Amino acid sequence: MVLPKDHAASRLIALEERFGARNYKPLDVVLERGEGVWVWDVAGKRYLDCLSAYSAVNQGHCHPTILTAMETQARRLTLTSRAFRNDQLGEFYRELCELTNSHKVLPMNSGAEAVESAIKIVRKWGYDARGIPPGEAEIIVCNRNFHGRTIALVGFSSDPDSFGGFGPFPKGFRLVQFGDIDAAARAVSDRTVAILAEPIQGEAGVIIPPEGYLRDLRALCDETGIQLILDEIQTGLGRTGTLLAEEHDGIEADLTVIGKALSGGFYPISAVLSNTEVMDVLQPGQHGSTFGGNPLAAAIGRAAIRVLLEEGMIENAARMGRRFLKGLQTIAGRNPDTIREARGRGLLMALELDPSAGGARRFTEALKARGLLCKETHDHIIRFAPPLVIDGETVDWAIDRIDDAFSRAQ
Ligand SMILES: *Cc1c(COP(=O)(O)O)cnc(C)c1O
Repeated sequence: MVLPKDHAASRLIALEERFGARNYKPLDVVLERGEGVWVWDVAGKRYLDCLSAYSAVNQGHCHPTILTAMETQARRLTLTSRAFRNDQLGEFYRELCELTNSHKVLPMNSGAEAVESAIKIVRKWGYDARGIPPGEAEIIVCNRNFHGRTIALVGFSSDPDSFGGFGPFPKGFRLVQFGDIDAAARAVSDRTVAILAEPIQGEAGVIIPPEGYLRDLRALCDETGIQLILDEIQTGLGRTGTLLAEEHDGIEADLTVIGKALSGGFYPISAVLSNTEVMDVLQPGQHGSTFGGNPLAAAIGRAAIRVLLEEGMIENAARMGRRFLKGLQTIAGRNPDTIREARGRGLLMALELDPSAGGARRFTEALKARGLLCKETHDHIIRFAPPLVIDGETVDWAIDRIDDAFSRAQ
């Protein structure tokens, strides 16, 4: 029996709800195909992807060059473990170091693992190089941070949804207000080993810190001799119109964490990059991952970076981001009662709604009906982050649809 297409969607949704953990509340759209900035649902309806899997699909869906690299490598060799060497890893390291002006690379899989790894590195550095008493290292972290879902990371989250019910948590983290350099300076003690921050807080709702904040954090770390760790898992690899978001402030972190788009949207890969010898505190046997640095991941990561550069996606993100944001600002100007602010950098943008607008969800539903897939973050913010391969015509198309959704929802 051939089922009608909308029946297929409801059946698949019911299966997810019946058999899956309920840790997400997705929009009810069941996708089956993607190409570039577009995705199609099981009924054949086309949507513009304005989330890009939280910036893991910067290069666009199913990029043919990355696909070929994956297929080719999958036929040759996929997993060796780090007990042996493989012919992709060294080249992957070299290309990443040359690209980001880094000293060393530690390959991991998920973003959360890579942040955890950076934390392990700076703690060990604190004990080995700074003589901090055992077990007393402190790391300064920011209010409204998002660094992933492991116990240590949710333990220093300020969001009750993230940490509530999951304790006890590891100690050694001090929360300060994001964007407040004086608060960070006051939190530094003789036990502090690092400051960990996102250049722009993505999950918190595309929160852009005050001008010069990263520069001030850099100076604070230099003055006090501690490490600056920037989590660029979401902001990195072209999303904000530069390779790394730190470039907007003209600084370099000591440790940079990347993930998401390093996968090209195909296969989870993350990495910690170090600018200095700090990575050398790790000796054989002290850290590892069965899948980290496997040849399939390395080949995909190499292709993901290559297309980002060769196809001009970073410059395109800067150009299209300006065009998109201008459109959002015009829409915000027309809907002063509904929209508090349009903001963004590159193709990482958001509309913050007035609480009286009745929540972002009804607008993401209205946008879905008009062929745009966006996700609300918290209750009142809609993030817009399409793949970096979007063209001007599509930006204008998206702005028209968003304009329509807001003008009719009054
Ligand atoms: C998504 C994200 C993470 C976590 O990455 P996972 O791959 O989901 O573990 C960490 N930090 C930031 C800034 C992120 O956006």
